Amino acid sequence: MQKKAIITLLLTCLPGALISQVLIGSPSWGLSAALLANLLWHLHQLKKFAQWLQQKNQADPPQASGIWGDIFDKVYKLQRKTRKARKQLESHIQRAQNSANAVQDGVIIVNQSGHLEWWNNAATELLSFQKKVDRNRPITHLVRHPGFVHYFNTGAYDTPYELASPEDPKTQLQVEITRFGKDERLLLIRNITNIHKLEQMRTDFVANVSHELRTPLTVLIGYLEAFENTPTPLSPPLTRGVRHMRDQSKRMQALIDDLLLLSRLEQSSRDTCFTSVDVLALLESLAQEVEILSSDKKITTSINMPQAFALMGNEIDLHSAFINLLTNAIKYSPAESHIDIIGEQLPTGEARIIFQDHGIGIDPAFIPRLTERFYRVDASRATSSGGTGLGLAIVKHVLLHHQAQLIIESEPNVGSRFICEFPKSRTLTMPAAADSEKLSSG
Ligand code: ADP
Repeated sequence: MQKKAIITLLLTCLPGALISQVLIGSPSWGLSAALLANLLWHLHQLKKFAQWLQQKNQADPPQASGIWGDIFDKVYKLQRKTRKARKQLESHIQRAQNSANAVQDGVIIVNQSGHLEWWNNAATELLSFQKKVDRNRPITHLVRHPGFVHYFNTGAYDTPYELASPEDPKTQLQVEITRFGKDERLLLIRNITNIHKLEQMRTDFVANVSHELRTPLTVLIGYLEAFENTPTPLSPPLTRGVRHMRDQSKRMQALIDDLLLLSRLEQSSRDTCFTSVDVLALLESLAQEVEILSSDKKITTSINMPQAFALMGNEIDLHSAFINLLTNAIKYSPAESHIDIIGEQLPTGEARIIFQDHGIGIDPAFIPRLTERFYRVDASRATSSGGTGLGLAIVKHVLLHHQAQLIIESEPNVGSRFICEFPKSRTLTMPAAADSEKLSSG
């Protein structure tokens, strides 16, 4: 292109200079005239170029020869290439948006500041967003459910969050949040009303059956106890049979009680009433409750709480959880062993209640499944200990209600540590007067 420009310049300047030399004896006038003509021509082409660029419709480039012809040609080709690439990009974006719109789940993109950037049709329906009005508004202003706002702001998205639809309380939604890019967030909203209904039916069914079984079983146990205490003694085989029936009926009663407790825990997840629970007083009352069970096996228990503290929780539920852990520790410990109950506040503010035994322990391979309903490490071991298989499931549920977690550490034939770890938000420090080492033995 550069060569062409020089040749054009020479082809106009040289003849000009020559003619001027011949006519007036000096080349400079001719040369200047040729240069001026060149400049005017370039200015003219530049004007055409600018006018063409300003045109909004995709018009063909103006006709031009020489270097400007090449420039128009090159820019035109570049323009076409860019247009093609942009069209392709737009069609890709459109396809992505169409496919996201075809999804039945709500998809929402939220920017770094938590403002709505884009959402699909399902999200519009599930959360009643308005396409034009709601763009760039903070999502927490549109979904005002306090639990959701807390979940969104904390940034702990390991587990999905469930909430009732802001439009229709009967519609149950599940929100899953994933981070991407520069702290942008992708929200997946699923309508889980049907799953929720099924879950509710299952819970109601178990609760109703358990409730209905309670009365006949109480009658049965009453009669069996009356038979046992009859003034005319029964024959030895019959006495054995009646005692066996009474024991099994009592196990069934314990199972029903645990099932009812689990159903209650599942149903009351939202309206649990929390108060300040004095941990030391609770642990002392637990130790007293299990005294008969532990003294039968000559097991001693000690409560060790270096610093008194309270938990913001539901006392009845915490009692159910801790009594399960304590009775397990006794059940799965040999006679004449010792159980430590430790209550401690960590420097980071969390609180831990630990039940530590020196019993048969658990193989680490079984630990992840221990809190499943009816899961037993060894069925014969559990049956002989009279357990229902629901104890640890109850513990897990109670702790979940308190945003706490159960940590299990165990070694076969050495012992187990069941650690209930409560978050800082649930822990209340007691007045300094109570801060002394409390130790009690049974
Ligand atoms: P169960 O009523 O059978 O005790 P749990 O849910 O309370 O049911 O416990 C589940 C299983 O975990 C038990 O069957 C037992 O095998 C094991 N387990 C629980 N606590 C202990 C413990 N302290 N030491 C050893 N094994 C335990």
